Amino acid sequence: MTRNDADVLIAGGGFAGLTLAIALRQGLGAAFSVAVADPTLGVSHAGDERASAIVAAARRLFETIGVWDRVGGDAQPILDMVVTDSRLGDAVRPTFLTFSGDVEPGEPFAHMIENRLLLDALVAKARDVGVDLRATAVAHFSHPDIDAKAWVNIEFANGGAIATRLLVAADGARSTIRGASGIATHGWNYGQSAIVINVAHERDHDGRAEEHFLPAGPFAILPLKGRRSSIVWTETTAEAERIIALSDDAFHAELEQRFKLNLGEIKVIGARRVHPLGFFVARAFIAERIALVGDAAHVIHPIAGQGLNMGLKDVAALAEVIVDAARLGLDPGAADVLERYQRWRRFDTMAMGLATDGLNRLFSNRSDVLRLARDVGLGLVDRLPGLKRLFIREAAGLVGEVPKLLRGELL
Ligand SMILES: Cc1cc2nc3c(=O)[nH]c(=O)nc-3n(C[C@H](O)[C@H](O)[C@H](O)COP(=O)(O)OP(=O)(O)OC[C@H]3O[C@@H](n4cnc5c(N)ncnc54)[C@H](O)[C@@H]3O)c2cc1C
Repeated sequence: MTRNDADVLIAGGGFAGLTLAIALRQGLGAAFSVAVADPTLGVSHAGDERASAIVAAARRLFETIGVWDRVGGDAQPILDMVVTDSRLGDAVRPTFLTFSGDVEPGEPFAHMIENRLLLDALVAKARDVGVDLRATAVAHFSHPDIDAKAWVNIEFANGGAIATRLLVAADGARSTIRGASGIATHGWNYGQSAIVINVAHERDHDGRAEEHFLPAGPFAILPLKGRRSSIVWTETTAEAERIIALSDDAFHAELEQRFKLNLGEIKVIGARRVHPLGFFVARAFIAERIALVGDAAHVIHPIAGQGLNMGLKDVAALAEVIVDAARLGLDPGAADVLERYQRWRRFDTMAMGLATDGLNRLFSNRSDVLRLARDVGLGLVDRLPGLKRLFIREAAGLVGEVPKLLRGELL
């Protein structure tokens, strides 16, 4: 091992990678070295207006690792949620389900925050706690011939090299580390894409989120700080590409038909973006001295805004498993340590992935019979407070075997 060695090397400085790095340094202190490599570290996110829903469990994690106090003031709590189910041309959209209130007194079930604000806060915190940040990609890794079980050799795109006891792939949906580890995925494309934009509106949203189930897929209006909302608008891929290429006036007309005028006049702010939607789960979350977290391990439909939150659950579980092992003097990259992580996360991921897949299939269609059936179901949930509360806690990430950080406990 050389003087550049790291106990853990994380490839990918997105939400998942940076959060894991901070949690490990906080749990294990300066004697445990953690490096993050990502070619986009140090690249400005200015102008990127994308935003995410951060559920209560994920917010507890950010609070516990000392990141939320840097961004909480910019986050918009979701105080209320309205779900409707109708055809595009319907003049009135009956409300089938409403959620309001907190998961605990004073704790909203989710907040909306711009991705760039959260990423900047994570980078700053990682630097403060002594994470070794490297603005380069992991180009190649190999297991040494002499003792395959002791470490992994990493080569960076900038020519540098390092040896580590554990390589964490937090390198996103197209993870090259997952591919090079021989880990296959199973899943499918939806033939749907999400148009993502922000809009400014005349009237206050009062913290209300709206999910309109339209025949082509969900149209979500998510409140941002001020008189602004983030829109995640699902269409078939061909229709999304047609809409995104329209002139400003024609695009506005399509938007207004779906957004309606409840919040007064609306205006698109920033760029229009489109994301093809798919679902996959990696067949394994671990390989020899390698662990997958976040989108490298799974990608789900954004219908329930849970993708990142699932990734943070991976991070919290892996951090807990590594901290427990390292405190006992055990090797953080040992097979049994990684097995514990995989057992904890893979089944839960599959269950959430299939639930969001089912939800999308149930709602993204034109069948009136199915519409009637699901509206009866939604109406029932709406009238049963116990069931509704369970749904809210599930959506907030507070059900099941919740890792400590997501419960707001230090490692
Ligand atoms: C339309 C849409 C809306 C969504 N809304 C929500 C929401 O409201 N709530 C929610 O929870 N989730 C949401 N998601 C999902 C969420 O955006 C993702 O799950 C999340 O961004 C994944 O984070 P990550 O850190 O795993 O990966 P990424 O954010 O993809 O980060 C991966 C990083 O790895 C780096 N990288 C790649 N290759 C290498 C390499 N070889 N070496 C080093 N670094 C590398 C990249 O530069 C990148 O910075 C949404 C997704 C979509 C498409």
